[in-house]
Amino acid sequence: MRVHIADHPLIAHKLTALRDKNTDSPTFRRLVAELVMLLAYEATREVRIEPVDIETPVAPTRGVRLASPKPMVVPILRAGLGMLDGMVRLLPTAEVGFLGMVRNEETLEATTYANRLPDDLSGRQCYMLDPMLATGGTLATAIRYLVDLGADDITAITLLCAPEGIRRLETAVADLHVPVTIVTGAMDEKLNERGYIVPGLGDAGDRLYGVV
Ligand code: URA
Repeated sequence: MRVHIADHPLIAHKLTALRDKNTDSPTFRRLVAELVMLLAYEATREVRIEPVDIETPVAPTRGVRLASPKPMVVPILRAGLGMLDGMVRLLPTAEVGFLGMVRNEETLEATTYANRLPDDLSGRQCYMLDPMLATGGTLATAIRYLVDLGADDITAITLLCAPEGIRRLETAVADLHVPVTIVTGAMDEKLNERGYIVPGLGDAGDRLYGVV
């Protein structure tokens, strides 16, 4: 598994505003969209393309376009939905599938409660969206789910992650034989006893949708 931690002053600046407990939901949502666009730029570095011949007003030339099958973007509900807007602005022709996962707050284990994905993801590059890679349980379950459907290349975009979650995910995907990449805005210090990222930003879903 490859982990790419963004090292960019603009990302650090926006993340700081995002973490601030005084940032309201509308600003939080706007910052998430902006951060996703910046992270997606890095996450799509290996997106598959194919040659295409076009004519400019001046001359014929050969360029590239996204290859078929188109990439599949998979936000993990609920909080990943807040990242979808920024992602599809960068990849407007991508297809979007949804996976609903819920974490049991006592056991911290993740289970799937909704699935709106094609039955067959063979040969598809998948971009998963989940803002917080905390224990790693949700992403581990979700990645295995997509690989079972045939996905052959998986990149997860997260805003923040915890070292404990990265370690668990590394073990969980080791036997999958599919390239897995994590692109994240920052690696935080640790998890607390409730499974929250420290310093983190609190509950991403609540902050996105204004639940207190
Ligand atoms: N989910 C969140 O929304 N925040 C955390 O810190 C951990 C998991």
